[in-house]
Amino acid sequence: MLTTKWGKVDVAAETVTKQMEYHKNELSTLQTRHQAYVQSIRQGTEATDKTHHSLNENIRHIFQSLRSQLDRREKELLVDLENHTKDTKATQHALLTTCDEDKKTCTRVLDYISNIFLFASKSDILGLEKYVGEMTRTCLDNAAPQTDYAVPTADFNTNGLSKLKANVSGFGAILTMDMDGESVNGNLLRVIADWKPYKAYRQASFRNQKLENGVARECGVHLLKPGAVDRSCILKCLPLKNDKDRFSLAYVHINTEGDLVNRKSVIRPAGEGRLKKYTGTCSTAPLPQDGCPQYWELENRVSVNKPLSGDRLILEVGVCREEQRDVTHCIGGRPHSYSMNVAHCPTHGGICRSIWKEEKYVLCRPYTLPNTAGTSHTLHYGVVYDDARKKIVFIDVKEKKVMSTLDNVDCSEPLWPMFGVYNPDWITVCMRLVVGSDINMTEEKKAMIVKALS
Ligand SMILES: [Zn+2]
Repeated sequence: MLTTKWGKVDVAAETVTKQMEYHKNELSTLQTRHQAYVQSIRQGTEATDKTHHSLNENIRHIFQSLRSQLDRREKELLVDLENHTKDTKATQHALLTTCDEDKKTCTRVLDYISNIFLFASKSDILGLEKYVGEMTRTCLDNAAPQTDYAVPTADFNTNGLSKLKANVSGFGAILTMDMDGESVNGNLLRVIADWKPYKAYRQASFRNQKLENGVARECGVHLLKPGAVDRSCILKCLPLKNDKDRFSLAYVHINTEGDLVNRKSVIRPAGEGRLKKYTGTCSTAPLPQDGCPQYWELENRVSVNKPLSGDRLILEVGVCREEQRDVTHCIGGRPHSYSMNVAHCPTHGGICRSIWKEEKYVLCRPYTLPNTAGTSHTLHYGVVYDDARKKIVFIDVKEKKVMSTLDNVDCSEPLWPMFGVYNPDWITVCMRLVVGSDINMTEEKKAMIVKALS
């Protein structure tokens, strides 16, 4: 009789059989689970198809209705124009007719008088005096005004067009919901999900990812308050770009690293729509107005070639309306513009940062930087734009200080970020945009922004 570690073969076989049965049960349970999982994925695919179909319908429907609304408005306006023109022409016609009648009457009276002179006897003339006088009086009373006809002017009012366009181009978003994420941080997720850089990110890493704050940070989105419940607490570090196709060729260029430099371009890329007077460039698009505060930074390397004097500008950062972008070399002091410039300041006798709000100079903050030839400085600024609170905040990143918070900013039309660099004979300035996830968003910086916005 064979023996094993379990004793006799029979006993051993029984034990092994039991163990195998246990394995069998385990595996069949697993198989059932697999089947169920496959089933649920299949259902998921069906659900995805259904969602795709219904969203597809929905998008088409909404845009169809927008299109017909536009068509209807266009027709209404064209009808208005027709009516307006018809009315004006009818008035002009009536005026012409009246004037023509008056002219005829006048001619008749003139003829009558000539006939009197030719044919009437002296006693007849006496009898006709009253009649001729009355006729002449009537003609003079009805006479046309002694000025030219004033043509009524008409114009097509396009107020709000650029805002409408901005709204249309940013309208709509496909939201990606994550069941557990939704309940925790729904708003942040929703904002991230409809944000283009996030979509790109999501496509790039196609694995079934959890939406976590890490992802948010990757996209340059930060919660200003933990557990934020509305958009106004979500800070977006938007991926601003300085516009290569718009910088003024006569004063500046954008180098291969994408930085703005205060030296005119050697190679002159042709193209229309360039800024001519502004010594710099604007961003490629205006700031979105979606209720989320927006944030960007500018790191400027400045070398002094000759000591600055008077009110010579070094650089300017700010925002303004579309039509203010190219009125003069800077936007400081222009209507609908909000800016900070760094310049030599005659009042403080050194380099200062001064803040401008629309036509008004707000304040000046002196620097302790040496204004000496051969010295170099890195100046690092942050700008917050908050359309919900109507505020703009200028931050000195190196000093970790808010320089100024502007209130009651007019956000009724889109605003464009502007970047200016000046005076190449005195200084060399190289302005780099720091945006999106490249921004080092520290808790300290966040706290500073929260305080400035509150
Ligand atoms: Zn000053």
